[in-house]
Amino acid sequence: MPHTETETHNGYTITYVNDECTESPRHDCQNGLIVVDASMTGRYDPPDDETLPDSFTCPTCDGAGRDETADIEPTDDRPIGTNAPDCPTCSGEGVIPATFARLVEWAKREHGATVVLGLDGPNDYTDRWRVWPYADDSTNVRGLIFDTAKRVAETGSPLDRMEEFLRAELDEYNAWAEGDVWSYEIRDRNGDRVDEAGREDYSNRIIGKDNAESEARGEADLAGPQPEPLHAVRLTMEQWQTVMVELPEIGLSDVIAAQLAES
Ligand SMILES: [Zn+2]
Repeated sequence: MPHTETETHNGYTITYVNDECTESPRHDCQNGLIVVDASMTGRYDPPDDETLPDSFTCPTCDGAGRDETADIEPTDDRPIGTNAPDCPTCSGEGVIPATFARLVEWAKREHGATVVLGLDGPNDYTDRWRVWPYADDSTNVRGLIFDTAKRVAETGSPLDRMEEFLRAELDEYNAWAEGDVWSYEIRDRNGDRVDEAGREDYSNRIIGKDNAESEARGEADLAGPQPEPLHAVRLTMEQWQTVMVELPEIGLSDVIAAQLAES
């Protein structure tokens, strides 16, 4: 049995049903791309299909690792380049670490990002990704969320509100990761279902209990006045047959026939 919670609003009974087994809310028509450290992927599903770079090619030596501009006399067995000293920028490694500042540059260069937020990832105590204030030279960045030029062209979202949108997308993903996904049903005083999902055959999954509550309460507000209360009556077959004879005179036979056809 899934976990449920019930409340009464505007006279209607709303039942919220917790559904943890729903699909990730991440999709292409969001503004943000979430990229996370490759080491996180074994333990937690990455939100999007992108991995955070862990280093960049050294811009000074272009990855060669040597300072070929150094003024070293070539010899017969050591031609130019092979005996050059280590590149001073990368100490001969050919790569430089992915600091926060460099990752921000990368997101802007490769994806046309305008807002880049650093993220700290899930750990033993939380499944959430949090916006984290990394220093520019920090090499401990575990993820980023940023807008991409391609996605913003599709969504048409205003850039001056981009940070707000990205934070909302992150909140939505976190709520889903924590199993905070709900559907609801609204029943009137007679126990009949009056919500839209109850009338039509579609799956109504809402991320975040707060969102589910405001949607359900809004629907209950619009559901109008309660119907007349209906009562169950128990009769013997003999009593029932008597009632059936009397019914046409009080105009209820059509109502009874309709309800019998439904049940
Ligand atoms: Zn170098």
